[in-house]
Amino acid sequence: MNQLIESAKDIFQNNKAAIIIGYTKDKSGRTKPFIAHNSDEAEKLTFNHHAVNNLAVYLTRLEKPKDGKIGIVAKGCDIRAINALIQENQIRRDDVLIIAMNCNGVVENQNEEFSKENTQIKCKYCQLRTPNNYDFLLGELEDFELPEDSQQELMNKLEAMTPEERWNFWESQFGNCIKCYACRQVCPLCYCEQCIVEKSMPQWIETSSTTRGNFSWNLIRAFHQAGRCIGCHECERVCPMDIPLTLLTRKMGMIAMKEFNYKHGMNINEPTLIGTYSTSDNEDFIK
Ligand code: SF4
Ligand code: SF4
Ligand code: SF4
Repeated sequence: MNQLIESAKDIFQNNKAAIIIGYTKDKSGRTKPFIAHNSDEAEKLTFNHHAVNNLAVYLTRLEKPKDGKIGIVAKGCDIRAINALIQENQIRRDDVLIIAMNCNGVVENQNEEFSKENTQIKCKYCQLRTPNNYDFLLGELEDFELPEDSQQELMNKLEAMTPEERWNFWESQFGNCIKCYACRQVCPLCYCEQCIVEKSMPQWIETSSTTRGNFSWNLIRAFHQAGRCIGCHECERVCPMDIPLTLLTRKMGMIAMKEFNYKHGMNINEPTLIGTYSTSDNEDFIK
C-alpha cells in the first residue's frame, strides 16, 4: 500500500489536510479504523479486503479540525455516504479531502481471507467499484468472480409471501432485537443529535425490548432511511443478533429508483429525494 502511504505523506507535508481518517492493522493483524495526524502516523495506513468499516460515519462525529480539512480514505460505497452527507448539508465538500480507493470487494467474515465465499453482500451488486467523487484515486481494479446475490433471492421469497407471512417474518426477526442501537451508531446517515428513541417527553418508542417496542424502533429507523440509505450494509454487519436489516433498506432504495429514478449519494449536485416535491411525482404506488 505504498501508494496510499506516499499520498498521505504528501498530503501532510503540503498541509492539504489536518488529519486523515483511514485504516491500519493492529498488533493482532486486524484491520481497523485509524486517524493519522502527521507524516509519521501516515506510515501506519493500509487498505485491503478487510477494510470493512464505512469511515464516513466519523465525518459527523468528529470535531472539525481548526487548521485544515479532514482527509478520508474511502471505497465507492463509502463515497456514496460522503456524497449523501454533502447533499443533506451535513458537511461541505470543501472541508473534506477524499482519498478514494478502487475497490475489489471486502470480506464478510473478518477472521478469514477474502474469497468468493467470503464476500459481503453489497459487493455482489456493487456499481461503484471505481468511486465517482474524489481528490485522489488510488489502487487498481482486479477481476473477481461475483458470487450469487443471495439477498436478492431472499427478497424474491419475501415478495412472494402474503402480507401476513411477511409480518410474521419480520415479527420473528425484530423479536431478536436487543435494542443495543449499534445499527444506529455505525450508520453514516443516522446523525441526529437526539434520536427519537431517546426522547422521553413524549416517549415515542418503548425503551425495553418488547415485541411492540422492537417493531416501533426497527420500522421507524427503516422509514428514516427511505430514499436515504446508501447501502453500505454497516448496520447489518454490526448487528449482534444477525437481523437482516438491509433487506428493508435495499428494498426501499429499489422503490426510490423505480418510482422516482433516484439513488441517494450518487451526485452531490442533485437535490435529495426526501427534500424535493414535484407535482409530476408518481403516486400510483400509494395505496
Ligand atoms: S460495495 Fe463496492 S465499493 Fe463497497 S466494498 Fe464492496 S466492492 Fe468495494
Ligand atoms: S441504513 Fe445501514 S446500509 Fe443504510 S446507510 Fe445506514 S448503515 Fe449503511
Ligand atoms: S444492531 Fe440489531 S440488535 Fe442492536 S438495535 Fe439494531 S437491530 Fe436491534
